[in-house]
Amino acid sequence: MALERWFRRKRPTRSDDNSPAGLWLKCDECNAQIYRKDLEKNLYLCTECGHHYKMPADARVAMLADAGSFERWSGTIKGADPLAFEDTEPYVKRLERAAERQKRPDAILTGAASLQGEPVALAVMDFFFAGGSMGSVVGEEIARAAERAAREGRSLVTVAASGGARMQEGALSLMQMAKTTVALEALSRAKLPFISVLTDPTTGGVTASFATLGDIIVSEPQALICFAGPRVIQQTIKQDLPEGFQRAEFLLQKGMLDDVVTRPNLKARLALYLSLLRGTLTPTATAAVGGEPGGAAV
Ligand SMILES: [Zn+2]
Repeated sequence: MALERWFRRKRPTRSDDNSPAGLWLKCDECNAQIYRKDLEKNLYLCTECGHHYKMPADARVAMLADAGSFERWSGTIKGADPLAFEDTEPYVKRLERAAERQKRPDAILTGAASLQGEPVALAVMDFFFAGGSMGSVVGEEIARAAERAAREGRSLVTVAASGGARMQEGALSLMQMAKTTVALEALSRAKLPFISVLTDPTTGGVTASFATLGDIIVSEPQALICFAGPRVIQQTIKQDLPEGFQRAEFLLQKGMLDDVVTRPNLKARLALYLSLLRGTLTPTATAAVGGEPGGAAV
């Protein structure tokens, strides 16, 4: 109990965000005071140093989809509680609270859109819903999105933001790794591209399944991408870890990622990759892309 109280004291609560003090935040990277509204207007990037903050799923869709093109697919399936799981509160209560706050039944938003004219299915994880953890609903929605994309001739773009498998659903959460992986086969058979975007953080069962199976895997700068986190590894092997371990730039160097792209350049870069893979490259797509593909963060 003492440990639990300690964690509770350290963690800011949701109500802090709504208080007047929550109007400002101190940048984790450069310590600058940022006005929260400015952060939102700036694609959730620090206005001083460009540090990439976690982005809400709806804002992410608004950023990637062409104006007015998004048609939502997800939202009709609700989670079950097969284990009647309870820790400090029952799992169903926890789900209800998150669903009410995030205005969706689980940690995923999928739908059809066009992305600079390319027909895509988007599957965006919501980190603010139970840490973006992947339980049965998240897995099912991603699998359905992949299969529907294949049927409708759309490319698939997923945006991962997840603490991994959802513990409260036990083995059923782990099965989503296999389910999402198999569903991606439909795209492969239809010869349609799948681009996976990894954002901070992408961990556990999400890293170990669909998120690292993209034809092209792109990450945002400085994103933590791992299976087990650095602290767990350090404590297991009892050695110091190299600088930048498990961060996007480190993984790009090691060949686990294909590209690290800053958020303002992401849409144009995705459009370029999609058109290259689909053989529909036009001079406009090439001109619109920011920075050099395959390079480090700019
Ligand atoms: Zn900053």
